[in-house]
Amino acid sequence: MNFKSSYLQGVYDGLEARNAEQKEFLQAVGEVLESLEPVVAANPKLEELGVIERIVEPERIIQFRVSWVDDKGKVQVNRGYRVQFNSAIGPYKGGLRLHPSVNLSVIKFLGFEQIFKNSLTTLPIGGGKGGSDFDPKGKSDMEIMRFCQAFMTELSKHIGADTDVPAGDIGVGGREIGYMYGQYKRLRNEFTGVLTGKGLSYGGSLARTEATGYGVCYFTQEMLKSAKNTSFEGKTVAVSGAGNVAIYAIQKAYQLGAKPVTCSDSTGWIYDPEGIDVDLLKEVKEVKRARLSEYAAARPSAEYHEKKNGEHGVWQYKVDIALPCATQNELDENDAKMLIDNGVLAVSEGANMPSTPEAVAAFQKAGVLFGPAKAANAGGVATSALEMSQNSERLHWSFEEVDSKLKGIMEGIFHACDDAAKKYGMEGNYVAGANIAGFEKVADAMIAQGIAY
Ligand code: NAP
Repeated sequence: MNFKSSYLQGVYDGLEARNAEQKEFLQAVGEVLESLEPVVAANPKLEELGVIERIVEPERIIQFRVSWVDDKGKVQVNRGYRVQFNSAIGPYKGGLRLHPSVNLSVIKFLGFEQIFKNSLTTLPIGGGKGGSDFDPKGKSDMEIMRFCQAFMTELSKHIGADTDVPAGDIGVGGREIGYMYGQYKRLRNEFTGVLTGKGLSYGGSLARTEATGYGVCYFTQEMLKSAKNTSFEGKTVAVSGAGNVAIYAIQKAYQLGAKPVTCSDSTGWIYDPEGIDVDLLKEVKEVKRARLSEYAAARPSAEYHEKKNGEHGVWQYKVDIALPCATQNELDENDAKMLIDNGVLAVSEGANMPSTPEAVAAFQKAGVLFGPAKAANAGGVATSALEMSQNSERLHWSFEEVDSKLKGIMEGIFHACDDAAKKYGMEGNYVAGANIAGFEKVADAMIAQGIAY
């Protein structure tokens, strides 16, 4: 990557030399540093105090063996990670991902992004991320339980309600959080808010399950209103994914008067011109944990398409709004061109880094409103922080109270991005705005806290 600032160039080149194989991590860092060019130019202190080289290096990386026993009595070994990236503004906070694609690069990219996302929420939470290359697909409930217990047996030594508070991510929902929480409590004999996304009967928050998907829509609604004086009302929406984020983005899009017509999983996608049936989708994915082909079998208006050669076909349809909610790099330049040619108005990222850098550039060049992940999907972690507050108070807030705080936070995040972009002469560039607004608060805290000699 080429930077105007020799300071940023030096930091990036050094990072690349030390982490040459970590493609996702370098992609995430490159995107943030590019946005920080004007901030670095205006604030020589950042270079004097080595803020950029410090912020791109995790405070701590924990990698561990997870050995567990499968249903046949065979010993299985996976690799576990927790990257405690930055604690300048609060305890480390970020999800745990269970997916065969998990490696140190993926966890570092997610942990790095989490620093800025958490800062944008305005809540006191630092950045972290973790997970394992364990594949939950095809595992029995007992195998999931044994894996989660083995994973937590090691992780419990490194986390705590005031130190590091993990949550869910791909492959980690309410069931997995429950097994992990139970194991933490067994080992430590403590009933604390050490994980978020907990069940409602043992300290979870109402609206946490819905929060990321709802938050993406609240952010997008504010972006549509502020930049184009329009809304979700009467719009058609393409969504990818069929997990936690996708399902609740679809539900909220309906509530805001739009019609979501697609969803997808790792094997294929659905196009349902009558609109996705959310109850049926929940039944297939949340209750039965089945493939999307079962959705199409039960719904005459839906087409099911098997995914071939990595294609992600949901972006070929004529829609007004696109919400990628599956995984990283799932929307490339060709997908972006199809959406642009079909007149898409706005794209907001429910997943983390779902759009490739070329796709983002194409949207921005075409004047499509683009809500980057760190801002648009921050509703999940924001509500996790609200769960932490409720745990500390030992109180429960109503669904309406949490949902209304979430909505306020997402609208605030949009305006923080918008204002930061304007301040540095990049009006409408919410990618730069999110990076700058998220960075400024963390950098201030790092400078205030000094350097340990
Ligand atoms: P999830 O419930 O596990 O759902 C993930 C969905 O994406 C599933 O439909 C899955 O398909 C699909 N998927 C996963 N990997 C894929 C791949 N390589 N290719 C195609 N499809 C793939 O996870 P989630 O919590 O919704 O997370 C989705 C995204 O949102 C992730 O990027 C995550 O980091 C981000 N995010 C989540 C939260 C949160 O609160 N959950 C907050 C912020 C950001 P299968 O059903 O076939 O596995």
